[in-house]
Amino acid sequence: MSDGAKYWTKPWNPWVGCSPISPACVNCWAARDASTRMGAIAPYSTVTRLGKWTGEVAFVEKRIWEPTRWKNQRVFTCNMSDLFHELVPDEWIDQVWASMMLSPSCTFFVLTKRIERAAAYLNSPRLYSAVLHAAEKARALNPRLSKIGLSDPTHFRSAPWIWVGTTIENNQAREERLHHLARIPYPHWISMEPLLEAPDMTRADLESAEVRWVVQGGESGPDARSSDVEWFQAILNVCEAAKVPAFMKQLGAKPKALFRVRHRSGADMEEWPERLRIRQFPVFHQQKPAPVIGGS
Ligand code: SF4
Repeated sequence: MSDGAKYWTKPWNPWVGCSPISPACVNCWAARDASTRMGAIAPYSTVTRLGKWTGEVAFVEKRIWEPTRWKNQRVFTCNMSDLFHELVPDEWIDQVWASMMLSPSCTFFVLTKRIERAAAYLNSPRLYSAVLHAAEKARALNPRLSKIGLSDPTHFRSAPWIWVGTTIENNQAREERLHHLARIPYPHWISMEPLLEAPDMTRADLESAEVRWVVQGGESGPDARSSDVEWFQAILNVCEAAKVPAFMKQLGAKPKALFRVRHRSGADMEEWPERLRIRQFPVFHQQKPAPVIGGS
């Protein structure tokens, strides 16, 4: 996550706060943003200190059912935390899952580095009754929601408007996370941001995990690590071969490139060569073709 080109229209944070778990977390954009821009305001004041997460997670109960009031939004779920953080109890996630299932006009992007827990949670035999129980609370507050049926969330077709993704910032993450993503009964996507090394990703990797969308980008911020634009090009080539839409979000604050980049996070496509200007979306569940910005 960073402050570059956005592919979502609304953030949704029923809890905030996190702790680093992988190399992508070293300069966590969310921690910096929460601490500097919102650090004096609760709930962020309780989970950040000096630009870093304290490791605590704060539940914001009043936000749980917000999406049920939204229409046709592309929602980033928990961009100020990790939905599957170790300190988050299943009961919180049950409510989030019920809220997303009760909001079928929206598309949700779930992105986690704790994909092993996500796979276990989303295949658990307890999940259906837990989500139904959570949904009762929402329906008590808003009886209109009783008209929206909920099918078993461990089945693939139960809520195709919820896209579950994981971060693949390096080759180790690819090895450790893709096979867990493959077990998840929802449409899959991956975020390769910040891309930290030359990727070994192949077409077979995307196909075996049934990845349907790839977002990639470089790191932003004062301590940004450099990404080579040829790494991005390699991923675009793999996506093209696999016929998987790709979204080239930004080159990062310090891209390794033979051309000049002035934008502070390298997100201005007009500064890029034509071959990198690819911002494609998959077809979401509403079956309306989403816009393709730049590229083919
Ligand atoms: S998992 Fe995400 S929010 Fe949490 S520390 Fe890492 S980058 Fe930041």
